[in-house]
Amino acid sequence: MMSTYTMTIGGESVGSTNTFQVIDPATGAPFASAPDATLDDVHRAMDSAHSAFTMWKRDETARRRALASAAEAIKSNSEALARVLTQEQGKPLKFALREVIGASYAFAYYARLPIPRQVTLDDETGHIEVQRRPYGVVAAITPWNFPVLIASTKLAAALLAGNTVVLKPSPYTPLSSLALGALLRPLFPPGVLSVLSGGDELGRWVSEHPAVRKISFTGSVATGKKVSASAASDLKRVTLELGGNDPAIVLADVDPKKVARALFRGAFTNSGQVCTAIKRLYVHESIFEQVVEALGDVVSAAKVGSGFEPGVELGPINNAPQHRRVTELFAEAQTRGGRLRRGNGPRAGAGYFFEPTLVTDVGEDAPIVAEEQFGPLLPILPFAKLDDAIARANDSHFGLSGSIWTSDLERGAQIASELECGTAWVNQHMAFSPAAPFGGSKWSGIGYENGPWGLDAFCQLQAVNVKRAPVEG
Ligand code: NAD
Repeated sequence: MMSTYTMTIGGESVGSTNTFQVIDPATGAPFASAPDATLDDVHRAMDSAHSAFTMWKRDETARRRALASAAEAIKSNSEALARVLTQEQGKPLKFALREVIGASYAFAYYARLPIPRQVTLDDETGHIEVQRRPYGVVAAITPWNFPVLIASTKLAAALLAGNTVVLKPSPYTPLSSLALGALLRPLFPPGVLSVLSGGDELGRWVSEHPAVRKISFTGSVATGKKVSASAASDLKRVTLELGGNDPAIVLADVDPKKVARALFRGAFTNSGQVCTAIKRLYVHESIFEQVVEALGDVVSAAKVGSGFEPGVELGPINNAPQHRRVTELFAEAQTRGGRLRRGNGPRAGAGYFFEPTLVTDVGEDAPIVAEEQFGPLLPILPFAKLDDAIARANDSHFGLSGSIWTSDLERGAQIASELECGTAWVNQHMAFSPAAPFGGSKWSGIGYENGPWGLDAFCQLQAVNVKRAPVEG
């Protein structure tokens, strides 16, 4: 796409004498560098975002036009953006392309979404209209698993509402966001969208900056808690989209062979590095072995390799610390007597590869079950009574999503509603739609993204209350 990646600050391309290396997870070697933003860069981005806000919030038509042209620009540069994404993130090119097209769709969707106004009183005494107003400067902070899509979902909704945004991607995947910033730079007035790259400290500088009135954060629970604590001292508004440990419950009435591929996609898409991936699979004891076998066959057939290789379904894990963590969980499960059913865990050699792996014979207290593994390593647990499966599924600090698999859809929907989570699917997992809010309960998050709920996350209500009767006294 471009050989030198620069930040976008105040509508300008900005480099830095300080840079950090970006690693290709398929080789484990650096392949590019990104500017390491200074505190001064943060101040300049915030000042320009603050100045741009006054005009930007006034012209809804201009905002919609800019969002629509952003959608077009992303679409027509999708191949190039996808290649950058694959190289720094690791995901297979076809999935990178899907992510970029999803990002384009987010801009197109919000370009057309109405901003509601509600008249709640209209009589001879007066007129009350409830309007949605932007907060001002928004800090958007993103993780490394879906950098383009997550950033775009935040940007499109925040910008439609009339906010200005400073985006800070993960240091593991900064390039696709820098490239996105460069692509959108000519389409927005200076200061409306800035993109800064750097490490975790930059995240702290951005989220703690006094100009910021709203933080939209996606990442881990641990960082989310820090962001929330620092936001509280300045009463900044926050949306937190955090981790998950999603359960899927397979009832006795399904055909194991028919659901195996969908379960595989639910657990192993993006090499399991999805907040909403199936991370614990509960299967009724009467079909337990058949499900392990059927899923195992799909797992064994999946091709693992560089995201640029044709036919690859699973790329590498994105970064060395995450690869280490999944490897440790795998080893720990085996020391506890966990039984390896398919796959063989970490692969020796260059790159952060890890085979899709199924483990059985682990208890609820094993870290592989109790914690978010965020990798291609899935524990499968039997259950005898549905109530017990639901109780075990809900016995978690996490509450992002979950799914029920059954041939009885009505019963499935009723059981799904007993799951304590933001999204409860039946016979699918990771199916997103603008018709559904996306957010977590418990430690999985605060607030919602997607659809009209995503717009609301970037709006505060203002009641414009007009007295019609003459003012007297
Ligand atoms: P992370 O929390 O380590 O980092 C996320 C972002 O926060 C990065 O840009 C990082 O630089 C920044 N950051 C780090 N410390 C900060 C601080 N003190 N203040 C402000 N920003 C700071 O998460 P990660 O490892 O990049 O992402 C993986 C996690 O994200 C997983 O737990 C996954 O489940 C979660 N996730 C959640 C969703 C969702 O929508 N719920 C989506 C994707 C990923």
